[in-house]
Amino acid sequence: MSTTDVESRPSPIAGVGLFAKREFLPGERIAPYSGPTTTEPTSAASTDGKVYALEIAPGRWLDGASADNPSRHANHACHPNAELIWHEQESMAWLTALRPIATDEEITFDYGFSLAESLFHPCACGATDCIGRIIATPLRPALRRHLRFSRPRD
Ligand SMILES: [Zn+2]
Repeated sequence: MSTTDVESRPSPIAGVGLFAKREFLPGERIAPYSGPTTTEPTSAASTDGKVYALEIAPGRWLDGASADNPSRHANHACHPNAELIWHEQESMAWLTALRPIATDEEITFDYGFSLAESLFHPCACGATDCIGRIIATPLRPALRRHLRFSRPRD
């Protein structure tokens, strides 16, 4: 990986996004998602409402807010083309391709938000079946039930 593999520029999903500058194969590392690990998520208030802290293990967050993090602008999507993989031995997280990624394609991954977090973070990924909230894939059936019955379930 080199810094010429990805670039940040305005995204149709939200704000600035991360885009591939070359093709990636499934399983290939795209760019590191770097930052310190903490035992608490960074509050959105300290980052202009944007969220860069991701839970990499139960009770452990990776704070990717630093401008040094090449992946900080990667957006969430309901059908992401990449996933964030934490490598314990390296103490580093890597955005890794889930499927073939074309040059100029926006790189997206599942932020893994909880049901509670999802209520404050709309998704505008553009998928025809976009659920409208940033939420972890396994929790989407629960969110659909939540929206249907419109009562708190968490
Ligand atoms: Zn979506």
